[in-house]
Amino acid sequence: MELAEKAVKFLRLASRSRAALPTEIQVEVTNRCNLTCPMCPHTFGGLPLTDMPLGRFERILGQVPFARDIILTGWGEPLYHADFLGLMDRCRSLRPQARIRFTTNGYLLNEERAKEVLARGVSRVAFSFDEVPPEGGAVAAGGAAETAGHLPSRAALANAERFCALRKGTDCRVHYQVAMLEHNEASILALVAHAARAGADAVALMRMETWNQPDLRRPDLVRERAIIARVRAEGAARGVPVYCLNDHTWAMRVATHDDEICLKTDASVYITVDGEVTPCCNLRKLSGGSVEASTVEEIWNGEAFRRFFTDQRTACGSCDALQARQFPSPR
Ligand code: SF4
Repeated sequence: MELAEKAVKFLRLASRSRAALPTEIQVEVTNRCNLTCPMCPHTFGGLPLTDMPLGRFERILGQVPFARDIILTGWGEPLYHADFLGLMDRCRSLRPQARIRFTTNGYLLNEERAKEVLARGVSRVAFSFDEVPPEGGAVAAGGAAETAGHLPSRAALANAERFCALRKGTDCRVHYQVAMLEHNEASILALVAHAARAGADAVALMRMETWNQPDLRRPDLVRERAIIARVRAEGAARGVPVYCLNDHTWAMRVATHDDEICLKTDASVYITVDGEVTPCCNLRKLSGGSVEASTVEEIWNGEAFRRFFTDQRTACGSCDALQARQFPSPR
């Protein structure tokens, strides 16, 4: 995010207000996935698995002339959509000014697909990794049992590395992201080394949400801070910026009113594969309406979204995905 955008966001949140219209439109283009990770809501959500039809996607694009970012990511692997390139083409033709972003597990982004995606002007691709073998080494003892579910695949890493090389000379940024689990610090450090070698732009550390899966283990707040500090130092030594949205600066503490407002909510909507418009992917039952019956603008200005913004903690419960503190998981 540009400095000016950050300043606007800070002032908006600090004054407890929202954007007049959402500029970040996140669309769950599919809820199908090629993996079944235990930490992912896709795996245990029990939803009918489907792709968003192109007609619905076009309807959404037609409703959001104010979109600055269109994020083709939800509870599923976007590249698993039967016509992912068709979705990108619709973005380019109907919302040519918008930046296109998506997050992928990397397995399906082979050379041919990478070139096709880059030719359509993607602005940012985030590769979501889990267990990364140390240089020349095997995965940690315990293997997949100690991961959040992504298979420790050299193939996905190789796809990411190739993508980094192919995007040179374009405006596309590449991020690696990884969840902090109880025992994966060595993997995270290996990922930073890989990011440096591949030439990725940044590594994002994610806090694993446990509100919906209380049996999953993550480092407590003290260890989390220590991991962030060590990984940041490793990134600095290797020339790769490392960031974590849970590591709030004083400005973020002020902006969020000390965890009362989520950083995600002041200019963003999430649209489920069924067309329901919600504040974020974790609040899919808190729909303000469907794009089949209302516009995104009407829903953003509707009662459900207004109410949510004035009392988020009631709706968000113990979700601490983007908070500074860790909230206890319900048991
Ligand atoms: S706190 Fe969690 S549930 Fe609430 S808006 Fe942020 S990410 Fe979504």
